[in-house]
Amino acid sequence: MFHKNALHVDGLAIALDDASCELCFVSHAHSDHTAAFAKKRRIIASDETFAIMGCEPQQHRLPASIKLAPAGHMLGARQLSAEAPEGKFAYTGDFALHDSYTCRAGEIIQCDTLMIDSTYALPHLRLPSRYQTISRMRKFVLENERSILVFGAYVKGKTQELVRFMNIECGIAPVVSTPAAKICAQYEKCGVKLDYIRAGSPEAEEQMHSSFVAIMPAGMVGFDFGSKLSEAFGREVKTAVATGWAQVTRFPVDASFPLSDHADFKDTMRYIYESGAKKVICANSSEEEAAECLRHLGIDAVAKGKIPKKERQATLAQC
Ligand SMILES: [Zn+2]
Repeated sequence: MFHKNALHVDGLAIALDDASCELCFVSHAHSDHTAAFAKKRRIIASDETFAIMGCEPQQHRLPASIKLAPAGHMLGARQLSAEAPEGKFAYTGDFALHDSYTCRAGEIIQCDTLMIDSTYALPHLRLPSRYQTISRMRKFVLENERSILVFGAYVKGKTQELVRFMNIECGIAPVVSTPAAKICAQYEKCGVKLDYIRAGSPEAEEQMHSSFVAIMPAGMVGFDFGSKLSEAFGREVKTAVATGWAQVTRFPVDASFPLSDHADFKDTMRYIYESGAKKVICANSSEEEAAECLRHLGIDAVAKGKIPKKERQATLAQC
């Protein structure tokens, strides 16, 4: 049932977040999961993911044993589960167990074999409470209202989360880059209300005569960028990032906030225990360290890349 990174169920072979089969499950619209769109495969994904990718939804007649469930993480993110006589398999993709400003929390799927995203599955990756982080962010924005504030964030998902945070918590419509504005427009079509200003628009030019808040692509924002902006506008500039990695990494910015769209270690463990899974496959990031850590905790875990070919060719439940 699980062979060469593909799920084999009811006569179908389904690639999970890669393009190795003709039929592919794309859990969400982040670029490290969307190779199937570039390869023009037949795709199983949510309508929101198709919208964010700028594509018409595809409909496939799938067996009743295959189901999608909310994953949290970003708008449109889904998990996939499949039932076979040998047992139930679930793949989380990137997931989060908390509500965010733009999507609801992911569900915990009861299963026998759980393939879980292990990005934050190591014990040092524990995040402070979301409430605490949001309170700090709100304080930072309101205390610096006379400055130009620039947040660095991924264009898909985190930017829209920050726009909604600025709207709801600070009463601010931030300036966003043109690529981010296109994604914001897709979010709005999917029913997520966002108030933002596209960089380069007459409204943005007007706004930039005084203090403003901007959300720019993550790789662009740092001290150098802040200095150049300050020179150009003749006003103090404060830079910031909002990412879970801020908990363990130092960024070249004035303020870092560990606002994550992933489950951290605690929530990853909660998913594993509450799912009832007898076998855990760590996937996507830090697979081997995560699997070793889980084994130390008494969980039957393996890295996806370490599953022997023989076992991969065996049934899913045996995996
Ligand atoms: Zn993601």
